[in-house]
Amino acid sequence: MSRPTEITIDLNALVANTQYAQSLSPDSQTVAVIKADAYGHGAIEIAKALQQQVTMFAVSSLEEAMELREQGIMLPVLLLEGCFSADELIIASNQRFSVVMHNHEQVQMLHVLGIEQRIDVWIKVDTGMHRLGFPIEKVVDVFSQLKAAAQVDNVILMTHLSVADEQHNPFTESQLNHFAQCRKNIETQFDVAMPCSIANSAGISAWPSARSQWNRPGIMLYGVSPFMHDDTMQSQLQPVMTFTSKVIALRNVLKGESVGYGNTWQAKEDSVVATVAVGYGDGYPRNAKLGTPVLVNGQRAKLCGRVSMDMITIDVTGLIDIKIDSEVELWGKNLLANEVATWANTIGYELVTRMPKRTRRRIISL
Ligand SMILES: *Cc1c(COP(=O)(O)O)cnc(C)c1O
Repeated sequence: MSRPTEITIDLNALVANTQYAQSLSPDSQTVAVIKADAYGHGAIEIAKALQQQVTMFAVSSLEEAMELREQGIMLPVLLLEGCFSADELIIASNQRFSVVMHNHEQVQMLHVLGIEQRIDVWIKVDTGMHRLGFPIEKVVDVFSQLKAAAQVDNVILMTHLSVADEQHNPFTESQLNHFAQCRKNIETQFDVAMPCSIANSAGISAWPSARSQWNRPGIMLYGVSPFMHDDTMQSQLQPVMTFTSKVIALRNVLKGESVGYGNTWQAKEDSVVATVAVGYGDGYPRNAKLGTPVLVNGQRAKLCGRVSMDMITIDVTGLIDIKIDSEVELWGKNLLANEVATWANTIGYELVTRMPKRTRRRIISL
């Protein structure tokens, strides 16, 4: 038997989550966000499973988009940060990638395209996140430049919400209002109907007015809710990634004895401690606090001692039938990534996305 650490990727859960996202916004097209290796789930497998379900994929770079083409995925792809150089724009146009343009430098790059090389451009509007995008008062000007450029095919107006996961935060309403104003300015000045894209997962779920022609769900497709508080969504989602390993050692630890590097955990009573073959080298967060829940044989145990590179130790005192080879779930179908993330001061997004190469993947196919 080889080292038992692995993640299982359930493509049926992925498709069900995608259909759920679409059911919330049935008149919209779905741009499935599969950047960062599909949030650590494996971009190629995820794209192959979704190519019949969605209209388009979104990634962060030309490299990520090219990998899809090299694996035979021919759906349109949106580059969320646009092109980083004029050379990239030529490739993007040849490959039928759509590009975000969020600054003037990217608009200037258009001159490298020949008249026969056309491209769809998504204008990114900064409605308050202040990370990427044109200020609202510049957008009419950018739109008219793009309309005048022979190389530009369709133009889509987009923005990104910064607090859509906070369901009572009025800032989202303000972003939506600014965006609506910006859209109206263009529509009246140019007498066009402007296709738009606003919503990420939290927007699709919690902000009906953020749903538009194109939605951009990411995390919810993977069955992880974007909401850390007031979660109304998780019960509708099925976790796609389940991270598992096995117990490889068991010992009695006497009251007062300590476990692991730094001796950070001492037994308050005579205890039974199980060692599990998973550590930060496998994607388990090193800063998971003492007490972080771990499932062993379906029962909840608590992390005790520091997380090592290849191992963790869990307190299994009083649990039933724990042996060497007992099954351990770190997160997934039966223990939510978001719950573990809270114990590690992070969010489910980060836990699944930073899964390293060495962790074996098993795919449950459609
Ligand atoms: C990552 C990303 C998304 C997806 O966000 P989720 O919260 O994962 O749904 C949507 N739009 C943009 C611009 C992004 O960068």
